[in-house]
Amino acid sequence: MNLSERDKAVNWHPYTQMKTADDIIPIVRGEGIYLFDDQGNKYIDAVSSWWVTLHGHAHPHIAKRVSEQLNTLEQVIFAGFTHEPAVQLSENLLKLLPENQKKVFYSDNGSTAVEVALKMCIQYAYNQKSKKTKILALKNAYHGDTFGAMSVSGRSAWTQPFSEMLFEVVFIDAPTSQNLDSLKAFIKNISDEIVCFIYEPLIQGAAGMLMHKAEDLSELMKFCREQNILMIQDEVFTGFGRTGKLFAANHLSEQPDIMCFSKGLTGGTMPMGITTCSQEIFDAFLSEDQYKTLFHGHSFTANPIACTAAIASMELLLKEETLQSIDLIAEKHSGFVKILEHHPKVQNVRQTGTILAWEIITSHQTSYFNNVGKLLYKEFLKRGVILRPLGNVMYLVPPYCITSEELDFIYHQITDVLDQF
Ligand SMILES: *Cc1c(COP(=O)(O)O)cnc(C)c1O
Repeated sequence: MNLSERDKAVNWHPYTQMKTADDIIPIVRGEGIYLFDDQGNKYIDAVSSWWVTLHGHAHPHIAKRVSEQLNTLEQVIFAGFTHEPAVQLSENLLKLLPENQKKVFYSDNGSTAVEVALKMCIQYAYNQKSKKTKILALKNAYHGDTFGAMSVSGRSAWTQPFSEMLFEVVFIDAPTSQNLDSLKAFIKNISDEIVCFIYEPLIQGAAGMLMHKAEDLSELMKFCREQNILMIQDEVFTGFGRTGKLFAANHLSEQPDIMCFSKGLTGGTMPMGITTCSQEIFDAFLSEDQYKTLFHGHSFTANPIACTAAIASMELLLKEETLQSIDLIAEKHSGFVKILEHHPKVQNVRQTGTILAWEIITSHQTSYFNNVGKLLYKEFLKRGVILRPLGNVMYLVPPYCITSEELDFIYHQITDVLDQF
């Protein structure tokens, strides 16, 4: 049996209808923006392997640091113990965040980072004997696949089987200059009951790269601050340069109380989640009373190898050449936006930094199950580019090591496919 057949015999893949799934592709090696399959074909990873890979695959700097760490300390219980990578990573990260972010809580992935954030907010209220329990979230939000994260995500096919078991959340439209006044009026009415507002800043990724303006979100945040509503900024996707600045926070004029990170955190090398919070949140858990403790932790909390990968990835991210490369991608995307906008089969072209998205016009509605996505996925694979449309929404989220020529190659493939399509 080849690898594909052996896989089929034993593995159950994520977000995959296993009955109708196409043959999956065994990848044997990665280097830079390329992935190599067992037949010797190479593919440009234009979606950064589900938005995680920042500096390309198998980056030698991260590999070196991780392998050194493997030979020094691979894991230690993080209750009662600490280690250099966890301390250094927290120090390095906090320096880059809004100055009100003071403490770092480690977990394993984006969903758990969100779970921790929600528990921080709810117990913050509980510890102060506040009656606030309701949560505000954006329609179409995506915050992960665990139960709390699903609850604060938009209701969809993904959450439907569990709908009875998800806790109640008040969903509001993403802010626009037109709806801000009515959003504020709506929130003001229920603000006594609302403990926190969770949102993906600037880009609602999994919903299909829906984008809203920084100034509109800032305005909404300002209002939430006035209403004493805590803010959880989920930067799991937007963090570490994707939006053209280091964090979406750098586009906003207001500071959130809590922030969530994962995906690009380790450069895409290892799974890890981080939830950061303000001093005020942290202080609400300080007490002689044991019941006020945040009783949350994972076996691999602050795993030294994952921390080391994150430190190494952030070293690469802050290099002048990486920051220039991020600018270059954003600039090149802007040029391609102008071409796409004039294409008769394309609508709603949008861009934030290194993230570019557009919709294919079909006779069907824009949706995750729109079939055109599957056809396009296969066509681009044939051409050596991994693009994984969300239904009829296509997007590019390339690793930062991509060159100008490689971007041109992808753009060319896209216009070529669209012309023939
Ligand atoms: C992907 C994502 C998550 C979930 O992260 P996982 O590591 O897949 O659990 C949460 N929030 C946002 C904004 C995401 O894009």
